[in-house]
Amino acid sequence: MGRYDGRIVVVTGAARGIGFGTATRFAEEGASVAILDLDESQAAEAAGRLPLTDGATAIGIGCDVSDAASAEAAVERVVSELGGIHVLVNNAGITRDNLLFKMTDDDWDLVMNVHLRGAFLMTRAAQKHFVAQKYGKILNLSSVSALGNRGQANYSAAKMGIQGFTRTLGIELGPFGVNANAIAPGFIATEMTDATAARLGIDIDDFRKMNAEANPVRRVGYPEDIAAAAAFLCSDEASYVTGQTLYVDGGAKLG
Ligand code: NAP
Repeated sequence: MGRYDGRIVVVTGAARGIGFGTATRFAEEGASVAILDLDESQAAEAAGRLPLTDGATAIGIGCDVSDAASAEAAVERVVSELGGIHVLVNNAGITRDNLLFKMTDDDWDLVMNVHLRGAFLMTRAAQKHFVAQKYGKILNLSSVSALGNRGQANYSAAKMGIQGFTRTLGIELGPFGVNANAIAPGFIATEMTDATAARLGIDIDDFRKMNAEANPVRRVGYPEDIAAAAAFLCSDEASYVTGQTLYVDGGAKLG
């Protein structure tokens, strides 16, 4: 028996990277899963690769989390096609890094819209189902960059905003059987960090090695590391944990 048998889990931005790794873990543990991503065909293709257990299903839905109509329509499709919603993972993300003096209005707005507005819109759409059924789990993706990172004024502000948002969700929704937590990953090997290497003109393997050496456990993280923490925080074993941000970063920000 899996921890997520009979549960319906939505993961945004899950066609690849941390989102796909997390969706995979929920599927392995028995959940039916909706993969949301900008491109519906990529979302559907990723859904088709999930290791579903008997009786579970998966769908891919095209959704721009920063658009209210799109976010609401996606949640309603999940409820009508999969039969409900129990877990929401707000994972979709982008970076538009630049030093402050070179950062454009668009760089700022785009990052705020996907991370903060996106998490808000998706959560607002899901919470009406959670509150009605007196059960729900919300997991938001923050980042170690919330603590400050050169070239990421927009992203670090959004990721610290996610932590405040998560605490408030914990306060408001706790009485209705809903837990909300966040994970702040350190360096995770995905296309997002590969793109950062490319932007900095550093070879991907060198960039990973550099980041591995910068933390106490001397390795980079993988989507599976985040997925394992997500599977705990969204489980009933964690029902007394809410409003928290768990740093999953190999100890990168300890010292
Ligand atoms: P990734 O590989 O770039 O994947 C992000 C996914 O989100 C992509 O499939 C992307 O689709 C999708 N997406 C972007 N904008 C969207 C929107 N408006 N609506 C729906 N989907 C959208 O990133 P990742 O590394 O897996 O990161 C996942 C999350 O973890 C992000 O929130 C990120 O900020 C956070 N995080 C990552 C790291 C890391 O080291 N990788 C560290 C800390 C936190 P397209 O490909 O179509 O753009």
